[in-house]
Amino acid sequence: MLENLYKQIVMDHYKKPHNKGKLTEEGALQLPYKNPTCGDVMVLYMNVDENRRIKDIKFEGEGCSISMASCSMMTDLVKGKTVDEAKKIIEMFNDMIKKGEIPEDEDALGDALALSGVHKLKARHNCSLLGWNGLDKALKQNELQ
Ligand code: ZN
Repeated sequence: MLENLYKQIVMDHYKKPHNKGKLTEEGALQLPYKNPTCGDVMVLYMNVDENRRIKDIKFEGEGCSISMASCSMMTDLVKGKTVDEAKKIIEMFNDMIKKGEIPEDEDALGDALALSGVHKLKARHNCSLLGWNGLDKALKQNELQ
């Protein structure tokens, strides 16, 4: 039952991704990122304000359903959060995928919790992590960590 519900959430995000598009304002960060193991590609766009808050975030990309759904879920989650909050969410998601750890506060990962089953599919870890690794890299490159 739960598995079917999770599948539905993933497919909903894949078919109707949230925050898809570009940010063209001056000062918007842009970072291309790709998953070498599956061919998933994405470009992340982000606006961080002077209080280190992610004011807006969008992505463009092409890839498998897990990778694109995960980008959609990730952007939903970190939009409006501070960089430090986003870093914690990235860590939580990594722990869920790589170690199979479900966060105590299940709401903390929002719809991304629906990807918990990817833990058992080692070959798909990088697919689910595409957007998250991209965000992590974008924060590091811009010395926001
Ligand atoms: Zn993939």
